[in-house]
Amino acid sequence: QAKLGGKNNARVFEPDMDAARRFRRALELDLGSALTNGEFEVFFQPLVDARRIAIVGFEALLRWRHPVRGLVSPAVFIPVAEEIGLIGEIGAWVLGAACAQAARWPRELTVAVNLSPAQFRSRDLVGTVKDALLRSHLRPTRLELEITESVLLSDSDGSLAALHDLRALGIRIAMDDFGTGYSSLSYLRRFPFDKIKIDQSFVREMSTRPDCIKIVQSIAALGASLGMTTTAEGVETAEQFAQLQAAGCDQVQGYHFGRPQPVGSMIFDLAPSLIEEPAAA
Ligand code: C2E
Ligand code: MG
Ligand code: MG
Ligand code: MG
Repeated sequence: QAKLGGKNNARVFEPDMDAARRFRRALELDLGSALTNGEFEVFFQPLVDARRIAIVGFEALLRWRHPVRGLVSPAVFIPVAEEIGLIGEIGAWVLGAACAQAARWPRELTVAVNLSPAQFRSRDLVGTVKDALLRSHLRPTRLELEITESVLLSDSDGSLAALHDLRALGIRIAMDDFGTGYSSLSYLRRFPFDKIKIDQSFVREMSTRPDCIKIVQSIAALGASLGMTTTAEGVETAEQFAQLQAAGCDQVQGYHFGRPQPVGSMIFDLAPSLIEEPAAA
């Protein structure tokens, strides 16, 4: 029997660390060829007007169909793509694919695309966006770009200039995951966002923590007074929806209204059962 000294304990964990490093290295290698192998796919999740209870747009959410691992979550591979400098190329592909799809939808619905901070640094973002619009013939007013406050953390002058240029084209800019960062309020002062997306953690905790309802109400009021649209993310139940309607949120998004869907299974109208739902809490 080996002694259980510090040295041996450390050795026990070494294979695991190697496995993690191997997984990471494999992801990096596979990401390098994922685009050319056609392994990426954009899913679309409905954005719903809370008063009319109607679909007003869709958010584009990237999926990676890995030939061996299956569907890999963007939460796993986007950070890796950012670190190894591939997000510019991947992001440009998402913009192109999302705009091309939206141009073929039956109604003039909005398409929302997520942007990484690295996309503001690595290449001509404004040119890439213009290119996607020109190729798809999508009107700029139908495109919404979602950013998190981290975009404004580093190199904020360049990022702010790009955001102003994009907005001047008629594109709307949304602040994603609002309320989770370090200084969300100060970012509202730095850029005239068109939309605030209230992070799903507030919605999730509304039933157990009454404070969360008050926070959501306050963000909705703040957004309204600043002339911004407010969207609540992660709405999973009819009860949450009723509370968010009462709180004054303009839009809702979540599994209650529809999961992110591949292009082939998209439905452009809500189920009648959702529309007939009583609005009162
Ligand atoms: P996000 O932009 O905040 O997107 C919302 C996430 O919440 C999505 O996760 C969506 O599938 C999930 N979601 C929607 N409704 C519900 C619900 O009712 N309950 C729960 N529990 N979750 C819900 P997803 O698709 O895994 O994406 C995760 C994150 O990855 C996104 O967060 C976004 O930050 C990033 N991402 C996705 N696609 C792209 C992309 O094309 N480019 C970049 N840069 N980031 C992306
Ligand atoms: Mg988003
Ligand atoms: Mg979000
Ligand atoms: Mg997020």
